[in-house]
Amino acid sequence: MLKGKTAVVTGSTSGIGLGIARALAGQGARLMLNGFGDAGEVEALRAGLEREFGVRVLYNDADLSKPDGGGAVVRDALTRMGAVDILVNNAGIQYVSPVDEFPLDRWDAVIAINLTAVFHATRAAVPGMKARGWGRIINIASVHGLVASANKAAYVAAKHGVVGLTKTVALETAETGITCNAICPGWVLTPLVQAQIDTRAARDGVSVEQAGAEMLSEKQPTRIFTTTEQLGGLAVFLCSPPAVNITGASLPVEGGWTAQ
Ligand code: NAD
Repeated sequence: MLKGKTAVVTGSTSGIGLGIARALAGQGARLMLNGFGDAGEVEALRAGLEREFGVRVLYNDADLSKPDGGGAVVRDALTRMGAVDILVNNAGIQYVSPVDEFPLDRWDAVIAINLTAVFHATRAAVPGMKARGWGRIINIASVHGLVASANKAAYVAAKHGVVGLTKTVALETAETGITCNAICPGWVLTPLVQAQIDTRAARDGVSVEQAGAEMLSEKQPTRIFTTTEQLGGLAVFLCSPPAVNITGASLPVEGGWTAQ
């Protein structure tokens, strides 16, 4: 379905970004990967995706905490792949602390990576999408773009910002063949969440399994983790013809978290 399209997925060396990259490649899209990782492991990942899906896969190592890191990834894709048809703004970090103790450098880093990089990448990608009359921008926000949790001030602020940015870009591009939507996952078992489970297990003196189960039971009524494959499937759907009139939406994938 996506043969001939080029997709940039930020933060795609791990977790949700990798799941979405795999799903898009599975539909024939060429990929520009981005994210941190050991150089050898990233190269093995890149080459492995090329072999598995028979599509061209490149990698850009831009640090999205730097001003215009997001723009740099998109411009590199435009130069080396000729177009950016699908932009998935996925890279993100978490930091947990009460607001009155929140380290200033962690606030700056979370806002830079989780919000400002989304703006820079979008700004760089939209002109080409407009010129070609087709584009799909998918922002991986969070359930924390819709509701808050204690001790996540920077993350919640950034993700609410992403939801607002998504709506604005959707309005500005509404008549251009571009759609811009946010996916709002609840708990997905990735390294980002595993770190929170491990912290909780150590804090409460319980097993990692029990800490994960307790985390789910507090917030996610289905008590099951969303998978990266499920989020990849949703991203593919947003690129498919039935989704042509879905824009500016924030799609919760959170087992009923925000229904409570
Ligand atoms: P992850 O830690 O597994 O992956 C994060 C990716 O971002 C990695 O590829 C990492 O290298 C990259 N990254 C981090 N800092 C970067 C930087 N400065 N420059 C470039 N790349 C950088 O995390 P994940 O759980 O897959 O999260 C992906 C996105 O999904 C994030 O935006 C996160 O907020 C969001 N999200 C995750 C969950 C969850 O439960 N895991 C829930 C809701 C939203």
